[in-house]
Amino acid sequence: MASSNGSSRSKGGGRILLLIENAANRERLAASLRQYTTLKPHGTSWCGLAFDVVIADLAGLRTWQQVLREAKQCEQPVFLPVMLIVAQAKQMRSLRAYWDLVDEFLVAPVDPVEFIQRTDMLLRARRQAQAQREHLAYLVHHDQVTGLPNRTLFRDRLQQANHDAVAQAQHVQVAVVHISLAPILKVLGASGMERAAVACSEHLRSVFGEEVVLARLTTEEWAVMLRGSASPDESLTLWRQLQMLSATPITIGEERVHVSPRIGIAAFPGDAAEPDALLDRALAALANAERKAVPAFYSETAQQRALRQLRTEARLHDAVHSEQFEFWLQPKLRLADRALIGAEALIRWRSPTDGWSPPGEFIPVAESCGLIPYIDRWMLQEACAFLRRWRAEARATLRIAVNVSGRHIEEAGFVDGVSETLRRNDVEPEALELELTETAMTELGEDNLAKLRDIRDRGIGIALDDFGTGYCSLSYLHKLPISTLKIDKSFIDDIDRSRVNAAITQTIVALADNFGLETVAEGVESEAQAAYLRELGVEIGQGYLFAKPMPAQDLLRWAATRTD
Ligand code: C2E
Ligand code: CA
Ligand code: CA
Repeated sequence: MASSNGSSRSKGGGRILLLIENAANRERLAASLRQYTTLKPHGTSWCGLAFDVVIADLAGLRTWQQVLREAKQCEQPVFLPVMLIVAQAKQMRSLRAYWDLVDEFLVAPVDPVEFIQRTDMLLRARRQAQAQREHLAYLVHHDQVTGLPNRTLFRDRLQQANHDAVAQAQHVQVAVVHISLAPILKVLGASGMERAAVACSEHLRSVFGEEVVLARLTTEEWAVMLRGSASPDESLTLWRQLQMLSATPITIGEERVHVSPRIGIAAFPGDAAEPDALLDRALAALANAERKAVPAFYSETAQQRALRQLRTEARLHDAVHSEQFEFWLQPKLRLADRALIGAEALIRWRSPTDGWSPPGEFIPVAESCGLIPYIDRWMLQEACAFLRRWRAEARATLRIAVNVSGRHIEEAGFVDGVSETLRRNDVEPEALELELTETAMTELGEDNLAKLRDIRDRGIGIALDDFGTGYCSLSYLHKLPISTLKIDKSFIDDIDRSRVNAAITQTIVALADNFGLETVAEGVESEAQAAYLRELGVEIGQGYLFAKPMPAQDLLRWAATRTD
């Protein structure tokens, strides 16, 4: 039975449009073509039907000649065959007008076997033409040596990405990577250079994975496109990965060769509004890339930011290996009687070449390059070791608060790691508190909150740091496994002068009372603030008024010399 819409291909693998005006003939032909999908026009149009072969009678050809001509034209360069069935040989004479349209004739009565054979032949010719076109399209869009998309296809993809980026208010970044293959050409010849190009492409592909669009623009230039939100963090990952290219040698046959890429980066919409201009900007940045493997940005501010970040990252890795971190403590006092009840652990970094770096600068870098769990674990171990020493010197109980980041909590084995560190140092869980910022806490998923609940159940304290600066809703607060609210320094700063900040602090204290939480004020710098906070009912204070952060061993001395 003739089907008149775009159903799936039949087993015979062809879709045949029947332009047969005589309904009885059409039914008969359709029946003999049952291994194919047969189609007939809807009323006066066949728009929307995709087909591989046309079988027409003279009446059909007359009615449809104009559209058929256009359809053939449209399919160019692929061959769209038309087979005409004429009632008698003499009808052929009247066919001059359609000569250019018809590829095959059959004179009725049609022998069914011959009919199927001719149809098959035409379909085969059609498939060959299609395969040739695909091959041609491949050749036009791909680099012959590496099989990667070439500049033409890259520009198409870039066009599409920019289009999507505008619609979704996202960024697109393009990096052009220049790898000098000329030295390889000299030593290993043209085939060596081709193998080097393949190896470089494979290397780039393994670095970026399948999702990133990678293309070969010219013999020595590759392009990489980063789509989506492409936050500064994500693009840093890209730059870092590009740098790796020069760190690992590529293998060409027996040889291992170090390549030093130069990299130019531009971003849409910041650096260019149009795809072509974006690629040009990345190339312009490339021209300025002098230092090998340090990417050059079209925009100077992006360049400086990236350079600073990459340098800090490199220095941080060194710091981890050569133990440049120090464990410092800042006392926490009970406001009522100024008794020392605890301390916050704060990391300090002194590099032999650059001196001190503020944690406010390097902690975010450590977070973005994945070093933060290492830092957190190191601080936790130092805190436990210190608590052990503290107890050995028979002091009053002390609780140390260690800052932890969301990245660390997300790691598998976080809870066991904390427990194990306590156990190894023989420290009771109540002597430890973990501080987590309000923002980090609200970003944790349910799995990670469950881990914190586990931590809390083991007796370890959990403080919500910088409270009041995030968007923690009150209804959410009671679901969190916390024991302490740390009121952010910004509310404390002018608490004795700002009625608003005083009111906020008062509300936080009332809230903490309701939920059975302890309150800590951070950044207390004056007696006036301390007095006011005490009046508002805040239990604990921390700040320069009492003591600045100090090397851990100084805390022992500091506590000993106090006369409270
Ligand atoms: P934070 O957790 O809010 O730490 C309090 C910061 O305020 C510390 O800065 C501390 O030195 C400072 N501070 C304390 N009292 C006063 C005061 O009276 N006046 C003023 N102006 N500042 C005061 P620091 O040590 O520079 O740390 C900055 C941030 O770096 C910390 O903020 C914390 O988010 C992060 N951080 C520090 N150490 C670590 C660590 O070991 N691990 C993690 N994950 N983050 C850390
Ligand atoms: Ca803190
Ligand atoms: Ca804080």
